[in-house]
Amino acid sequence: MTNPVVLGCTCPGSPHQADRIKLFDPLPFAKAIICRQTIAALFAGDEPPSEAEMSAAVFEVYLLHCVQAWTRTDAKRKALPLSRPALREFMEHWPVEAAAVADAANELYIDKVVLPLLQAALRSSPTTPTASETSPRSGRSKTPRTRSSQFSTTSTQTDGTGATFTSLDGGSSTSQSGTTAA
Ligand SMILES: [Zn+2]
Repeated sequence: MTNPVVLGCTCPGSPHQADRIKLFDPLPFAKAIICRQTIAALFAGDEPPSEAEMSAAVFEVYLLHCVQAWTRTDAKRKALPLSRPALREFMEHWPVEAAAVADAANELYIDKVVLPLLQAALRSSPTTPTASETSPRSGRSKTPRTRSSQFSTTSTQTDGTGATFTSLDGGSSTSQSGTTAA
């Protein structure tokens, strides 16, 4: 598991050898709550979410809330602010790369985000509005983990890609290549 996740350059004009997308590690408490609540909302419906629905929700919530910094730039090669629209644009236009990021996030956060939800769902087996459901617990035992390592990108951790992280703070710090493990 690499964090930051290293991808092919996804910036206009491909100015970098690679882009790096850094995930929060550890996941801040508030963000863990956001992720859990967002995913938990799926369980509030009449039917338990399908595995695909779970995967999609987890995927999106990780992308929108768990990216701490990235090296992406805009068409003028200026650091692209890590904003909600920019993250959505990344998902829209770079689905394979986005999936790789979500995949890494899933590995990092499954213990903090998904498993507690599943345990809670199993424990408190929410009031089923329909009387037709005979065995409320059946079908809930499936573990809707998002497929892990399905999307493996060529992620050799290269440093000195010429890419610069842009973090949530808005500031773009110069290459953090010295801070990561060699
Ligand atoms: Zn790039």
